[in-house]
Amino acid sequence: MASGLQHEFDVVVVGGGPAGIAAAVCAAESGVRVGIVDDNPVLGGQIWRGSSEDGQPEDAVKWKQLIQTRAVTVFCGKRIVHQPETGVLLAEGTDDFCELRYRNLVLATGARERFLPFPGWTLPNVMGAGGLQAMVKSGLPIRGKRVVVAGTGPLLLAVAAYLRQHGAEIIVICEQASWTSLARFAMALIGQPAKIIQALKLKKDIAGVRFAANSWPLAAHGQNALERVTISRAAELETIECDYLACGFHLVPNIELAALLGCQIHNGYVQVDEWQRTTAAAIFCAGEPTGIGGVELSLVEGQIAGFAAGGRPADAQKLFGARQKFRRFARYLDQTFCLCDELRKLPSEDTIVCRCEDVPHSRLREHTSWRAAKLYTRCGMGPCQGRVCGPATEFLFQWKPDSVRPPIFPARVENLAALAGRREPEGKAVMGGVR
Ligand SMILES: Cc1cc2nc3c(=O)[nH]c(=O)nc-3n(C[C@H](O)[C@H](O)[C@H](O)COP(=O)(O)OP(=O)(O)OC[C@H]3O[C@@H](n4cnc5c(N)ncnc54)[C@H](O)[C@@H]3O)c2cc1C
Repeated sequence: MASGLQHEFDVVVVGGGPAGIAAAVCAAESGVRVGIVDDNPVLGGQIWRGSSEDGQPEDAVKWKQLIQTRAVTVFCGKRIVHQPETGVLLAEGTDDFCELRYRNLVLATGARERFLPFPGWTLPNVMGAGGLQAMVKSGLPIRGKRVVVAGTGPLLLAVAAYLRQHGAEIIVICEQASWTSLARFAMALIGQPAKIIQALKLKKDIAGVRFAANSWPLAAHGQNALERVTISRAAELETIECDYLACGFHLVPNIELAALLGCQIHNGYVQVDEWQRTTAAAIFCAGEPTGIGGVELSLVEGQIAGFAAGGRPADAQKLFGARQKFRRFARYLDQTFCLCDELRKLPSEDTIVCRCEDVPHSRLREHTSWRAAKLYTRCGMGPCQGRVCGPATEFLFQWKPDSVRPPIFPARVENLAALAGRREPEGKAVMGGVR
């Protein structure tokens, strides 16, 4: 076990996706000391995942090369779990930890998929759409496998295209949004040429694949793993044999760290001003935690945050116009892919909602708040700390999420104890209120 080195920076960036990489590059251009930390083995985030440059989009290659040429200290495979004191973050790796001291902080923690429970959703081979894509990127063989892609949001199309390119047979893409909303979304893209080009490319990549609007999974069936899935397609039922169900209901921003650090959250997103500054002193935020808007918005927000945190506001200001355009796209996404009420009826009595603690829907219905459900059923108290069941119960029961308490991810007690020992006089080590 490493002894917990301490590193000091002018700017620390948490999150190594497009927003974080752009922030680190732009902050470093100001000549300040910059550190970036990400919990994956290499930088890239969700969309630019993987170390190989083959097959990566041009932007990914460009930004990954830029960060290598700047004076940025990279901490990969480390996760920020706690802020032991103002201006210091605890980064935990698989077998070590370190403390990162900052003057300015940029949070670029991205988003995760939203999962909704339905009968059979915990069967092996029922996976998040982006999760399955990530596993294929990491080597899971998919050639010849029959895949149903379901849920909502543009990620479904990107995943279907990716899996097909790698030899999967995409049987159907089920999108819960209606044809009317989708048509409105398509019209709104006029004036966003980059998005139209992306959409046309996706259309070509999934040409010939069946696409159903007003459609969602009702149940997944199988003995030991997924064998079939029943979908509702414009109110008609259809059961389809398949090897994988790739299922995700758009994205949920990762705001836990921002909330822990005292940044104000509004409607589920971190509040920022024009410089991407949050309401907490010296803390900026960029990318998906401020709104789900795709890679272009993440990149431009990351650059603004990086320039602002590095002390170059004039350079940040030049990007305000571009950000405005991409924020419009984020609003269209929110409107088009908001969940329809019928999805609340998906779980049956015994459908597990909190899969870490095995809590079924019937036990949650008895409660009127997230806090009560947590206290009485342990819902949200397992290893994922409510990251999966929290957004699901928020949609199913309209419960508001609770306050966030450290550590925001499960952390090793020995690391927390070592930190506490450093800060308390001998014999009085205290962490998380436990003596
Ligand atoms: C599973 C998934 C797959 C996706 N696939 C695609 C796709 O194929 N095509 C597409 O157009 N869009 C895809 N997206 C959307 C895409 O992520 C966004 O459009 C955009 O790229 C987000 O960039 P970002 O930098 O804001 O966040 P991200 O790319 O999500 O980067 C955030 C990074 O921060 C890290 N992180 C978070 N918290 C911590 C912490 N406490 N400590 C350390 N590191 C932390 C995360 O692990 C992640 O690497 C996907 C999204 C998800 C959730």
